[in-house]
Amino acid sequence: MQVYLAQPRGFCAGVQRAIDIVEMALEKFGPPVYVRHEIVHNKHIVEGLRTKGVVFVDHVEDIPDGAVTIFSAHGVAEQVEMEAHQRQLPVVDATCPLVSKVHVQVRKFEKEDRDIILIGHRGHPEVEGTAGRSKRTVHIVETVESVDDLNVENPDNLAYVTQTTLSVNDTREIIDALKRRFPSIKGPSTNDICYATQNRQESVKNLSQVVDLILVVGAENSSNSNRLVEIGLNTGTATYLIDGPGQVRTEWFEGVERVGLTAGASAPEELVIAVIDRLRAIKEITVINQPGISESIQFKLPSSILNPPLNFPVQVVTA
Ligand code: SF4
Repeated sequence: MQVYLAQPRGFCAGVQRAIDIVEMALEKFGPPVYVRHEIVHNKHIVEGLRTKGVVFVDHVEDIPDGAVTIFSAHGVAEQVEMEAHQRQLPVVDATCPLVSKVHVQVRKFEKEDRDIILIGHRGHPEVEGTAGRSKRTVHIVETVESVDDLNVENPDNLAYVTQTTLSVNDTREIIDALKRRFPSIKGPSTNDICYATQNRQESVKNLSQVVDLILVVGAENSSNSNRLVEIGLNTGTATYLIDGPGQVRTEWFEGVERVGLTAGASAPEELVIAVIDRLRAIKEITVINQPGISESIQFKLPSSILNPPLNFPVQVVTA
């Protein structure tokens, strides 16, 4: 069986930066370090960090006074930031800079007195964070159909932004529907869907042209991984989301000669390697690197971790 490895796959610059921030915080301040929400949507990463002394919490109120606090890559609402500020918690913000860019757009549209239509998945932490960046009304839209159900007060004073990890095609259709219904709606100057999401979606489309089946390594709650599965299925290719080698089922490969393998932006390469080993245990395989875009983007670390302010706790080193 031939196994085609998607290019690019796995970690994006925002996920790598968020994990680096947590690792550096552990090193500089010592455990425990508190992270609001899973730092990135991957159980493997979260469990690994937990064993090193990271405590994951859902709310700022669950963080003890004075404890080092990290906001996840998905970003937070302004209210969450204020809560941490009022409690004088030493905060390191691991929000992906591409999510922060969307936050800036929301604030810009707010200053123009526009209500916001946020295209994204209700309940996803990034959507909650972005929605919480404007004091004006924010409508969340998930599908083309829901555009018709929108009940807006100021149809001539609207702007839209999107979650960064959506399907490029679905989002385009929703934006078109919004523009048809609200011709004067304003949008961001560039697409909010991030480079990593777009590149991984493109590579799945390319894979689908040569393989019989696609495996996407990623977590159930990972938005960008789920979109990769949808894209594979939309091409008519059997596509499965797996969180690691343990979920690979032997019967999927009966009569299959070519398998495509990719990973969502929060899935580590070691899981991809473990899946290859699992496939090798099922059948004799040849691994082929599918040509694709090579990514070189890196994001700077925040100054709060490079040069922590004075209110940050000093690590106590015991002999
Ligand atoms: Fe940032 Fe995109 Fe990665 Fe999300 S998927 S962390 S927006 S680069």
